[in-house]
Amino acid sequence: MRFQLTDEQRDFREEVRMFAREEIEPKARDLDRAGELALMTEELSAALMSVASALALHLGVAAVVERFGTDEQRERLLPEMATYETVAALGLSERNAGSDKLAMETTAERDENAEKRGDDEGGDDESVGEWILNGHKRWVTNYLDADVVLTYAKTGPDEAAPHNVSAFLVPVEEFEVERVWDTLGARSAKAVEVTLSDVRVPDDRLVGEEGEAYVERGRVNTGVNVPARGVGIARAALEDALEYVEQREQFARRIGDFQGVRWTVGEMAERVDTARLLTLRAADRADRANRADSGEDLSREISMAKLHATQAAVDNANDALQLHGGVGYTTERHVERYLRDARLLTIAGGPNEGHRDALAEAVFARHSQE
Ligand SMILES: Cc1cc2nc3c(=O)[nH]c(=O)nc-3n(C[C@H](O)[C@H](O)[C@H](O)COP(=O)(O)OP(=O)(O)OC[C@H]3O[C@@H](n4cnc5c(N)ncnc54)[C@H](O)[C@@H]3O)c2cc1C
Repeated sequence: MRFQLTDEQRDFREEVRMFAREEIEPKARDLDRAGELALMTEELSAALMSVASALALHLGVAAVVERFGTDEQRERLLPEMATYETVAALGLSERNAGSDKLAMETTAERDENAEKRGDDEGGDDESVGEWILNGHKRWVTNYLDADVVLTYAKTGPDEAAPHNVSAFLVPVEEFEVERVWDTLGARSAKAVEVTLSDVRVPDDRLVGEEGEAYVERGRVNTGVNVPARGVGIARAALEDALEYVEQREQFARRIGDFQGVRWTVGEMAERVDTARLLTLRAADRADRANRADSGEDLSREISMAKLHATQAAVDNANDALQLHGGVGYTTERHVERYLRDARLLTIAGGPNEGHRDALAEAVFARHSQE
């Protein structure tokens, strides 16, 4: 099955590419830090969340390569990824592996024969070894624009979990596209379902240590990107609502003079500030933990930020739509899009219910240490 980009999608890709080249690449070193990433993501998301999603997923893959890749992988990929010449997507979730990623069914098996061929030819085992991947990935955002998918697959038995998952950089041509999802929001960053049938990749496509990809992933603090997207939408909704209620008049007065409206707007601002503070605190902690390579558990900070900022985005978008009245329910205004986009955030990056579990666990764990 072949998928062609529409003119609109091509333009979108070009815009993101230009933006990446002009704005991101010169600041790549700074953006590698969670604090700067959170600030940038908020700004992008306030304009169009899909751009922030696409970029965050791409940068998330870059962070894994940067942290756990070989020198050769870093040198080959990171300069091209910094300019968006090479676009990456994330292949982690599956039909039966949503919140529970360790339930993934995709497998990668080492082809010993390929290695033997290397022996026969007097070659280097490392360079001729191959992995054979079989399975599927359910939601691969960016796929239609991507060059490679960081694909997670089981390389060990279930009893060895979580030390039984490895990650591979698989070229997009190797997948078969089963479906392009039509989604409520985030419509300009399409997600697809893809399958892998006896796909062979050489050893140098394995990123990180064999069997440790799931654990390594937990050490890359990509967790601030979803909360930061929430802050962006919550803020944009507040700004649009303020502008509207200050000029719209009913009953011969500005609707922004009704106490009910004023309290709502005040509450919206409070949600933005608390969401941003929690997100920046999580980013700051992540940066400090990364610098010290402390492996510190940040689930308390990350989950608090995720829960608050994503709900703030939904609530502010909903309130902004209400304050716009009928026109808010039309595509004339941005607020309906904010609401559609915000709804993704309480699900993506792990549903909020799972984050409530993680937060509670961290709170109880800290209490028992005190
Ligand atoms: C538009 C879009 C883009 C995406 N892009 C990517 C991508 O690029 N790469 C990728 O790998 N994945 C991607 N995902 C997948 C995303 O990470 C998953 O959707 C998410 O992890 C949830 O998995 P699930 O949808 O299977 O929901 P499930 O895990 O099946 O959960 C369904 C519902 O069950 C409830 N639930 C789950 N766990 C608990 C719990 N512990 N306690 C109480 N209730 C619970 C919640 O209400 C939850 O919403 C994307 C998803 C979407 C929708």
